[in-house]
Amino acid sequence: MGDLDGRAALVTGGSRGIGRAICIELARRGAKVTVNYQSNAAAAESVLAAIRGAGGEAITIAGDVSKADAAAGLVKGTVDAFGSLDILVNNAGITRDGLLMRMSEDDWDAVQNTNLRGTFLVTKAAMRPMLRARGGRIINITSVVGVMGNAGQANYAAAKAGIIGFTRAVAREVASRGITCNAVAPGFIATDITAGMTEAQINAVMGQVPLGRIANPEDVAPLVAFLASEGANYITGQCINVDGGMVMA
Ligand code: NAP
Repeated sequence: MGDLDGRAALVTGGSRGIGRAICIELARRGAKVTVNYQSNAAAAESVLAAIRGAGGEAITIAGDVSKADAAAGLVKGTVDAFGSLDILVNNAGITRDGLLMRMSEDDWDAVQNTNLRGTFLVTKAAMRPMLRARGGRIINITSVVGVMGNAGQANYAAAKAGIIGFTRAVAREVASRGITCNAVAPGFIATDITAGMTEAQINAVMGQVPLGRIANPEDVAPLVAFLASEGANYITGQCINVDGGMVMA
């Protein structure tokens, strides 16, 4: 018996990195999980295999969160498969780094579309089943970069700060309906997103991490599962950092 037994969860961008670890942790604690991905079906299938191999229940659904039809399809597919949508984790995200002077409109738009617009569209689609059930948990994956900024990531910092504002507005809007909405802000996590960093870039970031190591996706997933659990009943509108102490405020 897990503390999320019987709950239905949708994790956007669940095929790799932090999303993968969240899918596996939610399933380990008893949730039925929709593993969303954009294009990497093989990676999503491997998450499915890991969950089913451990005795859990999961499905995969392809879909671009920045498209309204696809976002609605993720929610509908989850409700059709599991009968409800109790936990939404808006995790899908991309970076397109570059200095502001050279940042193209495409790089700005792509990052807003996946990170911020995607979070808006999937959350909006999730409102109907959650309001009908008079309950639900929404957890938005932002970043410490949305809190403290980062040179070369003006597009990403703006999108992630936008997610924090969105989280607080939605939390106030739906609190009376038994739905909580929180954000989780990871620091430096070893995934495909950070794999392209140079040693100099890694060393510069590490100098800002009091705990002195790069995190793994498994360092983030337990907080997300906690926010989805009964233990977090009285927590809403918060942005909680999982960053080895990079930001202390
Ligand atoms: P990742 O390893 O690159 O995985 C990204 C995931 O998002 C993949 O599952 C990918 O699907 C999916 N995805 C991308 N665009 C999508 C779209 N338009 N629609 C649906 N799915 C889409 O990334 P990660 O490092 O785990 O990051 C996960 C989240 O944590 C992101 O929001 C990121 O901004 C945030 N974050 C990461 C770090 C870090 O250090 N890694 C730090 C702070 C915050 P495919 O497999 O199909 O491509």
